Parts: sequence; structure tokens; C-alpha cells
Amino acid sequence: MPEQLSALESDRDAVVQQLARLGDFRPGSVTAAFRRCGKPSCHCAQAKDPGHGPGFQLTYKTGGKTVTETLPSRAAVEKAEREVTEFRRFEQLSRQWIQVNQKICRLRPVQKEPEGWNAEGKKRLLRSIRKSRGK
Ligand SMILES: [Zn+2]
Repeated sequence: MPEQLSALESDRDAVVQQLARLGDFRPGSVTAAFRRCGKPSCHCAQAKDPGHGPGFQLTYKTGGKTVTETLPSRAAVEKAEREVTEFRRFEQLSRQWIQVNQKICRLRPVQKEPEGWNAEGKKRLLRSIRKSRGK
């Protein structure tokens, strides 16, 4: 095995171990919002009043829809921030995992030539490749 390949395999193991150690994670972002309650007598009805808040929320997409969850306490905000930070870490590690695998695949030598690597064997392979692409 080429030396570079075994080094890449160790890198890949390290990435996988970091992935396995990730804590709870979820996609989304924590945002703050001010709102107007709608009572005409309230201070928030004034044009230059910022409104009530800030209220904190977690926003994320699921099935093409944007969902907003209210974060009612400081502890809830901190928990959500930890979870979305961990998700960014997950995304970063997955990209690294893909990249190191691509390098390994390029370097991995082809094993011994399989039996039947002739015109008929190539046709069979072509059919199975097309099938796996769903064509
Ligand atoms: Zn108000």
C-alpha cells in the first residue's frame, strides 16, 4: 500500500472519530425578533418604538418549509446555539470525510483484473452501470 494512502486512511479514521463524538445537533439559526402586540394604546404602537422583545427563536427548514420555534429562556437559547454550532461542525466534518474519501479512491490501486474482461464482460458492466443510474 502506498505510504500516502495509509496516511489518508488515518486521516479518515480521525474524521470518523470526530463525527462519532459530536453532541446533539440540528440545522437552523438562532434569531432575535421584536414584535408589535397590536394594542393601539401600547408603547409598541408608536412608529419609532422597537416593539416588544427581543424574543429569541430557532428557525430551520424542513420539507421546504421554514419552521420557527420560540426559545422561551436564556437556557433554551444557549441549548439551541450549542446544537446549531454542532451542526455546522457536522457539515464541516462531512465535507472533510468526502474529500479524504475522494483522495483515497483516486489513489487506491485497482485489484487484479477480473475474469472475463472482454467484449462481453464490458457489455455486461455497461448494462449494470446504466441500471444503477436508473436509465
Ligand atoms: Zn405592545
